[in-house]
Amino acid sequence: MRDIDVLIDSDRGSVLHPFTQLKDFATGKSGPPTIVTGGKGIRIQDATGRSYIDGFAGLYCVNIGYGRTEVAEAISRQAHALAYYHSYAAHTTEELAVLGQRLVRMAPGKMSKVFFGLSGSDANETQAKLVWYYNNLRGRPQKKKIISRERGYHGCSVIAGSMTGMSFYHDYMDLPFAGILHAGVPHHYWGAAPGESEEAFSRRRAAELDALIVREGPDTVGAFIAEPVLGTGGLTPPPKGYWREIQQVLKRHDVLLIADEVICGFGRTGRDFGSQLYDMEPDLVTVAKGLTSGYMPLSGAIVSEKIYSVMEEAADRVGSFSHGYTYTGHPISAAAANAVLDIFEKEKLTERAEKVGAYLQRRLRESFSSVDIVGEVRGVGLLAAVEFVADRERKRRFDPALKVGARVSKAARDRGLIARAMPHGDILGFAPPLIITEAEVDEIVAIAVEAVNEVMDELAREKR
Ligand code: PLP
Repeated sequence: MRDIDVLIDSDRGSVLHPFTQLKDFATGKSGPPTIVTGGKGIRIQDATGRSYIDGFAGLYCVNIGYGRTEVAEAISRQAHALAYYHSYAAHTTEELAVLGQRLVRMAPGKMSKVFFGLSGSDANETQAKLVWYYNNLRGRPQKKKIISRERGYHGCSVIAGSMTGMSFYHDYMDLPFAGILHAGVPHHYWGAAPGESEEAFSRRRAAELDALIVREGPDTVGAFIAEPVLGTGGLTPPPKGYWREIQQVLKRHDVLLIADEVICGFGRTGRDFGSQLYDMEPDLVTVAKGLTSGYMPLSGAIVSEKIYSVMEEAADRVGSFSHGYTYTGHPISAAAANAVLDIFEKEKLTERAEKVGAYLQRRLRESFSSVDIVGEVRGVGLLAAVEFVADRERKRRFDPALKVGARVSKAARDRGLIARAMPHGDILGFAPPLIITEAEVDEIVAIAVEAVNEVMDELAREKR
């Protein structure tokens, strides 16, 4: 092992870290970087020898847990046999061909083909191009606008970053791009009028979407993109009836549905895909994260028969499908994905997420629902959030300067639990590996309770 201080200096001097306050990092105010050196099961270890429960599975991706030698061996086998070949002009590899068929078969909706990329962002970028391509091929060159939702998260590249519906991902970066619009977020706790039921709130959100499409002109709106369960924007399951109402509006105006399954896909919600939980019938499906459990970078834009048939039909007229990356269908990533999907199937991780997820949801509600600074405990499967508020009665948020969510997350971390302070509001997020046991859920909840108590005590002292 190299000297830790040398590594810290070298990292600080050279790496531009995502989502990091640059000055605090450069000056050391926010502390040294955590050098992560190993992982096993639901735990990771840092270079100082400290161990943490990873209650967020990296960035909601390490679904099979850390240290799975089966996947490491599959990666090694492929690297020895053939580390790279491209998939342009009808080249393929064994692992890619197998993976493509597996994904098309398991995906929600009537799917036909998968276009492979390396990140959720690039897959959503591909989805936008597919929407434009499809409508051009169908002779509807105006039907191009894409509607996403406030607080939706779809990535950080130019179009995917524009789809993301939080202003701090846009500020100073000249986003969002023209032609990407945002509809209202379906969060009943914050958005509903007093006494408004979940169903009525869903109908209202659908009516607003309808009005937005009519205002823009239905012949100019190509697609609606959404996560089945809102992720980074707050880990918020949809209110009752939401997806039924929304899909009726989309059908009425012939607007495609892109299901961004980057978090929900591969078991997280207790179904293989979030779309299945809410009876969504997407035209395009985005997958990444759980597809390889983060062991290698890989994403997919899965294309329905409805869209693909138009593309194939037009090929004599328009020539090749001119989109692709050097690493599209990378064989090592495909080998990792096949090994991960083997584990996913063999260990029935979807059923496990449903069962242990129900336990997590129950334990969090029992522990936090009546805590003074908790406004809402929510989630589905192994995706959960505790949202903190200054005033439960009046539903008033804390002053953002108090950084309550970040402080609870830090207090948990100091006790050996990684639970993420979500970027929008004061929210503590949980998305552990799907292999987690009920006993490990108990450990997570016990630490989270201590962390919340510590911050509540601090806030009470600061008030005096
Ligand atoms: N879509 C969703 C729903 C996500 O949660 C994320 C990342 O968190 C992305 C897309 C972007 O994926 P990536 O960070 O791999 O570009």
